[in-house]
Amino acid sequence: MISIPKQIIEKITEHAIQDYPTEACGYLTGKDDVAFDIIKMTNTDKSNEHFSFDPKEQFQAVKYARSRGESLIAVYHSHPNTPARMSQEDIRLANDTEINYIIFSVRDNTVKCFKVDKNKNVIEVPIRVI
Ligand SMILES: [Zn+2]
Repeated sequence: MISIPKQIIEKITEHAIQDYPTEACGYLTGKDDVAFDIIKMTNTDKSNEHFSFDPKEQFQAVKYARSRGESLIAVYHSHPNTPARMSQEDIRLANDTEINYIIFSVRDNTVKCFKVDKNKNVIEVPIRVI
């Protein structure tokens, strides 16, 4: 279970619509499984099928979270025209077994959260909107 404030879900949605048809991406900061803030990131791939972070922005994001006594608890990205589920590419690139992977489907207007274990099993994490 991950708890996410309603305003953060709205910001993810806005970001995804703004960057459409490119995939939007970013981080949620927080503590344990509660999200406190959102960091919008640049998708350096500028693609509608995958995303990459800018290493400089990633460093800034880690610093920002630490300065608030938080950590990066989730990575989010949008799927412009496909459902909110982990693609083969998403699973392949998911090498952090602790972090939550949030996907927002612009097409379906749905948001889902997943974790990927070390054997690449995808586990859906229920989202509690707070
Ligand atoms: Zn994806």
